[in-house]
Amino acid sequence: MENIPITDNHIHVDPFNGEGPIKVAEKFHKSGGQRMIIPNKPSWTFGEPFNFTKAMEMVLKYVDEINSNTDVKAYAVVGLHPAELSRLLESGKDLKAAEEIIKDGLDHAQKLVMEGKAVAIGEIGRPHYEVSSQEWDLQNEIIVYAMELAKEADCAVQLHTETSSEEQFEEFSLMAKKAGLRTYKLVKHFSGPYTDEKENFGLTPSLISTRDVVSKGIKKSNYFLMETDYLDDLTRPGAVLGPKTVPRRTQEFINKGLMTEEDAFKIHSDNIKKVYGIED
Ligand SMILES: [Zn+2]
Repeated sequence: MENIPITDNHIHVDPFNGEGPIKVAEKFHKSGGQRMIIPNKPSWTFGEPFNFTKAMEMVLKYVDEINSNTDVKAYAVVGLHPAELSRLLESGKDLKAAEEIIKDGLDHAQKLVMEGKAVAIGEIGRPHYEVSSQEWDLQNEIIVYAMELAKEADCAVQLHTETSSEEQFEEFSLMAKKAGLRTYKLVKHFSGPYTDEKENFGLTPSLISTRDVVSKGIKKSNYFLMETDYLDDLTRPGAVLGPKTVPRRTQEFINKGLMTEEDAFKIHSDNIKKVYGIED
């Protein structure tokens, strides 16, 4: 498996609430992992609500720390979680003011991508909980705005959304077309096994790497990414999969003959290259 650059497409590191970048990267590497794609955590997780530039700066710093101190290659993804907008509205901002604040934050994310400091915009999207119809419409407008920024910067977008199946994948693919963004540049984070193009409408699904989801996904196609959505938050143990899961799951599937080495290479190398332009 050494020639396969095993990549966790969505893994967080958090020295405030968890073990932090070096320890997580070391665990990942020990189990065979080589690359981590790390989105910034939301601003409330480090106690400075709405300090979006700091949230992004911090993930750039963690990526640097991993790259200088471990054998893992790390890449940053920068953006504003959809709950940031909900929280702005709860704090008393009106829709217009909140929209401007969020768009400014996304402009900054685009700038970091264009400077080569981050590989994608994310996680952005819309809430997995219920919100007012006005907020829902604004969340959708902001998704299209982020896609337009990504088109300009020629980068990918990592999408956080409500539980999605064919209907939502189709909706997001239409939004991408509206923004002029190629649909495969749109990565559905925390995806179920929607690996058939007829189900995902050309989006790139990033499968939550449970045994169940990966086994259903690989039966249909090898066009997907793998992730844990590890939070590195000790107050929420078991909320998601651990940092060793993607390398271990890949090895397990190869050993059991459920995935060929070629499939694994496609998932961890070709697909990553196609979406982010990252070479091995
Ligand atoms: Zn996440």
